[in-house]
This record gives sequence, C-alpha cells and structure tokens, in this order.
Amino acid sequence: MKIQKKTKIVATISDRNCEVSFLKQLYEAGMNVVRMNTAHQNTEGSLKVINNVRQVSDRIALMIDTKGPEVRTNPTEKGLEVKTGDRVYVKGAPGTKSYENVICLSYEDIVDEVPLGSRLLIDDGDIELLVRSKEGDQLVCEARNPGIILGRKSVNIPGIDVKLPALSEKDRVAIQLAIDEDIDFIAHSFVRNKEDLLQIQEILDRHNSRVKIIAKIENQSGVDNIDEILDHSYGIMVARGDLAIEMPYSKIPGIQKMLINKCIEKRKPVIIATQMLHSMIYSPRPTRAEVSDIANAIYSQTDAIMLSGETAYGKYPAESLKTMSVVACEVEKTKEPFNDIPVEVAKNEVSAFLIKTAVQAAVDLPARAILADTETGLTILRLSAYRGNRMIWAKCYDRRVVRELALTYGANANYMDPVKNSYEFVERAVNSLLEDGSAKKDSRLVIIAGNFGHSTGASYIEIGSVNDLLTKVKRTI
Ligand code: PGA
Ligand code: MN
Repeated sequence: MKIQKKTKIVATISDRNCEVSFLKQLYEAGMNVVRMNTAHQNTEGSLKVINNVRQVSDRIALMIDTKGPEVRTNPTEKGLEVKTGDRVYVKGAPGTKSYENVICLSYEDIVDEVPLGSRLLIDDGDIELLVRSKEGDQLVCEARNPGIILGRKSVNIPGIDVKLPALSEKDRVAIQLAIDEDIDFIAHSFVRNKEDLLQIQEILDRHNSRVKIIAKIENQSGVDNIDEILDHSYGIMVARGDLAIEMPYSKIPGIQKMLINKCIEKRKPVIIATQMLHSMIYSPRPTRAEVSDIANAIYSQTDAIMLSGETAYGKYPAESLKTMSVVACEVEKTKEPFNDIPVEVAKNEVSAFLIKTAVQAAVDLPARAILADTETGLTILRLSAYRGNRMIWAKCYDRRVVRELALTYGANANYMDPVKNSYEFVERAVNSLLEDGSAKKDSRLVIIAGNFGHSTGASYIEIGSVNDLLTKVKRTI
C-alpha cells in the first residue's frame, strides 16, 4: 500500500531530469504535485514534464510556476567565482550571456532604478553585492561574501520595487500552456494585490478555463494584502526563498503561522516552500534543523510542503521525498487530533455544521476514516480545515477535482462515476474501499454526503461498520 500520510508534497521537476521511471519513484515515495518552474524551462521542456507525469498517474496534480515580476541572472555556461571584496560589474541586458566578471540580468532598467548603496542579493541571498558606483550602462559592485554566481539565479533588491508589470510575455505563454494542457494550478510569483490575480483570472475566464491560481506570497505587499489575495485565489504558497530576503528573516516564522491560519479560516490550501531540505541537494541525510522545520510546518497545520532544488537538480531527489514522507507520518501521529476552528458562517450553514460534526465523530468514536463525495472539491476543503486525525476518502465526480485535492491535507481522492442517489453512493463507495484494501468488513466509517443532488452540499451523516452499511443499503434498495 502507498504511504498514508496526510501532509501533501509538492516536488519541483526539471525537464532535464524527468524520466517516467524517476517520476514513478518519486510518486511512490509520496509526491502529490509536480511543480514546473518556467523561470528555468521553456514550453517544450514543460510539455515533456507534463506528458511524463501523466504517464505515471492521473492523480498527480501539475503546477506551472510563472516568473512574475522578478529579476534573475541570465544563463551562462560557467559561473563566476567571487571572493569577498572582489569587483563585479552588473548590467541590465535581457537575452545576453554573462561574461568574465560582468553579470547580465534579465531586467533592462536595473542600472537606472537601483541607487548607490543598494544591495543585490543573488541566489536566495547566498551572495551579496553592494552597489558602489555606476559606470556607463553598468553597476560597479563589491562582493560582500565569497561564492559562485551562476546563471538563472534570483536577484532581490530589498526595499526597491522594480517597475516590472505583473505578467511578462513569458508568463502569458505559461498561462496559455496551462489553459491548453488543462494544467491544475498556476502558481503566480510575487503577487502584490488582487489586481495581479485578476489579470490572470481574466485570461482564464476568456478561455473558460478551470485552472486554479495559487498566489505566491514573497514580498511585503503580498503579506500586507493577504485578505484580498485569498479572496481571489484558490490557495497560497508561502515562498520563503524570496520572502526572507525581501524582509527580515526573523519575521518569517511568524508570518508563516499567520498565513496558515488565514488559509484555514478561509478553507484554502496552503503550501510551505523553499529550503525545507536544502542540505539534501548534496547530502543523503537531512540536518536536524530541516527535520524540525518540516515538523513545525505540519504542527502549524499546513496542507503541503514543497521541494525545490532538492528534486529539480539535487543529488538525492528520492531520498528527499522519502525524508519528507517519513517525517510527515511521524509528526502527524503526535499532532492534536482535531483543529477546533469555528464553523463557517458561509451560505450553507447546515452543511458547515455537518462537516465539523463528521470530523469530530471520526476522531472521537473513533472511525477508520471519513468517506465523502464531492463535485467541486469544496466539501473536502471544508472537512480538511479541521485537520482531523483520520483520512478523508474523497469520491470525486470530476477527474480534475481528484488532482486539485492533491494539495489538500488528509484528502485521499479518487474518481467515481456520478450516482443516482445516496444509496447507490454508499454501496459503490464502500465496496470500492473494500476492493482496494483501504477498509475491512469491520472498519467503522463516517460517511458525509449529499442526499438531494450534489450541488446542495453535504446533507447527511451515516456512521457504521462497512458490514453494517452494506447490509442496510442492500435492505433498502
Ligand atoms: P521560486 O519561489 O522557487 O520560484 O523562487 C519560491 C520562493 O521564492 O520561495
Ligand atoms: Mn520566489
């Protein structure tokens, strides 16, 4: 049987390392979502990843990450090694290669917009360059610490808002690809406010696309405007790589907690991202701090955790996934069994009340699992928010929803052909659990489903052992 963890794992995959056998290995180790980073990969590359992922399983969700308004170093064959105090030249020259000690960046107007004394932080802040002077079309910088400046690496300039539009040409290509390929999620970088999201939503609506937007929170504006951002996105990613550079890193743990709580309150998925197992890019074992970071995210009630370089180009991608999975499994055992949040005051308060009751019943009785049906995934998101210690077996009448739930804590989603009534649902769903070995005859289940057509939401709870439930249904039909 596959690992029964509740925390979901997003793995970043590069087109240079995406063989079907490799992806299969990661899937079996607990990967739920594949992220493609378009800052590093063109359409052809993305198509290769998409096709290969789809050969592995139709339950893996695909996420396309846009560049957003960001600055990066341009590609180069070999990195520039710098020592503290070295002089390095920086210039804005999209489409050109860095050479000798001149680093070329993807943003044209960099020299005009960056004042003297600014700091350029390269590659998640690994190398700091201090802007000393300007010479023609170049910034003259001093390296503040040693390191190697590689191509395609992030460049942050704390305190400086570069005047880039929300969507670059490359982002539009990525969004179109997401629409054409019916990708599950677009993760949009550097979301500052709802307008940034509406620009994407408008394109999606024009194409009648169901692609869901994940807002990456990676600067101060994203944190400040979290309420309106959540109202216009399917979920968020706490993009700690950029976040910890754009603002003091000491604030990140608190922000992470605050953002998770906001997401739970609004029943939206949340991903904690970046450097969760950074040392495993080169080492087969995690540091103690990394293990604790994963645990902290899970105790704080995140839905998902993410791997970046660890799986995209690291030496130990499968080990990284296994590490996350085993840590998640252990931590989940020692979590509070129920996250006692208020019932939603949203429109369908009867469903909302039943949903909380179902999770509570599954914890207290206890039951083997919760079994629920869903058309849009909403019932499952609402169940998941209580972070109960029982799995939610979600029967989805829509294949896309199966994949969307790959981000949702505790949800184990499968497709099911639409049913005529609730008796048929109980019979078919319970039998399928017996067949695939998820439940035995004496397993107690809490069933929550819709009696009167799916769109009305959950309308009843039925609790019993597999045997009882099947006998009762047989008598009734
Ligand atoms: P990135 O986003 O890997 O696309 O930069 C994540 C982050 O900034 O943490
Ligand atoms: Mn980022």
